[in-house]
Amino acid sequence: MRFHDSALEPSPGYPPSQRGAEALARARVFLRDTALPLCAAYAAEHGDTTFALEPDGRPSPFVLDFKRRMQMASAEAGLYALNMPVADGGGGLGPLDLFYVHEEVFRHGLLGQQWLLAWTEGPTPLLSFCSAEARRRWLPDLLAGRINIASAITERGGGSDVTSPVTRAVRDGDGWVLSGHKYLITGAPVVELVLVRVPVEGGTPGSLTCFVLPIDHPGVTRGPVVQTLLADGFTGQLAFDGARLGPEHLIGQEHGGVELLRFGRNWIRLRRAGMCSGLARHCLDRSLAYAQERHSFGRPIAEYGDVGAMLVDSYQDWMALRSLSIELLARFQREDVYDAPIGNATRRDLAMLKTFNEDALYRVADRAVQVHGGRGLLTEAGLEKIFRVARNLRIAGGTRETQRAAMLATFAEDEDATFDFGLA
Ligand SMILES: Cc1cc2nc3c(=O)[nH]c(=O)nc-3n(C[C@H](O)[C@H](O)[C@H](O)COP(=O)(O)OP(=O)(O)OC[C@H]3O[C@@H](n4cnc5c(N)ncnc54)[C@H](O)[C@@H]3O)c2cc1C
Repeated sequence: MRFHDSALEPSPGYPPSQRGAEALARARVFLRDTALPLCAAYAAEHGDTTFALEPDGRPSPFVLDFKRRMQMASAEAGLYALNMPVADGGGGLGPLDLFYVHEEVFRHGLLGQQWLLAWTEGPTPLLSFCSAEARRRWLPDLLAGRINIASAITERGGGSDVTSPVTRAVRDGDGWVLSGHKYLITGAPVVELVLVRVPVEGGTPGSLTCFVLPIDHPGVTRGPVVQTLLADGFTGQLAFDGARLGPEHLIGQEHGGVELLRFGRNWIRLRRAGMCSGLARHCLDRSLAYAQERHSFGRPIAEYGDVGAMLVDSYQDWMALRSLSIELLARFQREDVYDAPIGNATRRDLAMLKTFNEDALYRVADRAVQVHGGRGLLTEAGLEKIFRVARNLRIAGGTRETQRAAMLATFAEDEDATFDFGLA
């Protein structure tokens, strides 16, 4: 049992740009010839590495080495930083073009091939606003996948509410001194660089300033790993104890960090669409195949009504999330959505895109585990990992409740509304 359209093609009504179509074709070749063989070789050497952690909870060195090799090979093939502007050495793809590439990558599941894409710890469009000195020092290595970066907003006191962080910077000559603590930060245990958003003394209440600095900067310490349901050792803490920052560390304008934060956040939320579609399609393909192959009481389980209903429901969820994504991303591509500030309608639809897709993927992943019975729970099968990732998506990057609150706020149709939830 399989789809008649088993190739995952762009929607004829919303084709990619020429640049996007070329990137998609190159991504397919890279997946076939480099990324998936690398995953297979790694799996043959290391077996099931689902919980491959060091005694202190960090990822095992061979996991980090594998991730880095995937990033660097992809960068060499010109695929890693497709999200970055061409002027900064990236691929310059818009949201719809990126969707088709991301979907193609994630439809293979989470074997490690997903690291070919710049993601949470990869170069972000926010880096375009860095000082010339910072760009010279770090951008080439980030674009080449040789180093990674964390984005630190959340604190123990709150992730959704970013308006009153405890971490702050005070003026010191031509620079600043940074003190405080960031919590639940992706990549904190392993990355080389960090983007921090904090209030600076003298700013209006709620204003933030963005800085970029290396993790080995004096006054910066990696805190312990915070193990989450992802159980991958990538989430942690960062402490800043009087870290002195010069003008070269500033991103954009002092006190201008909220606008920049939106800029980075739009990228985070948009990129989840292709991930959700690709992973949902992966779950569905595997569920369809397994339901046909697995026999119980002498019949393929697909013939049992409850199992068939799960397949149909997952197909509906996948089609709905894909159609919604393509429709909205085509619009965002025309509107150049990375530019801040965005209007209420775009803010509402970005929040909807995130919430709807992640809820739909969560349902599809849950059903895929269920269709596979006990095998669905085996780590070696890879489906339970997708389920765990799908569960995480509904909190990290802005909870579904704050997204819905943001949507509700826009119904007031006040273009000047300042509601802005779930910035983390
Ligand atoms: C694996 C993982 C990785 C992460 N990576 C990063 C990272 O790289 N960088 C970073 O800065 N942060 C990161 N986070 C933090 C993440 O963004 C926050 O956990 C998230 O924003 C929610 O914040 P919180 O945990 O403080 O929950 P809270 O804000 O305390 O929310 C608790 C509950 O209250 C609800 N709620 C809160 N406010 C409202 C509201 N206004 N309206 C309706 N409901 C509301 C929430 O939806 C939730 O149900 C990560 C978290 C995890 C688990």
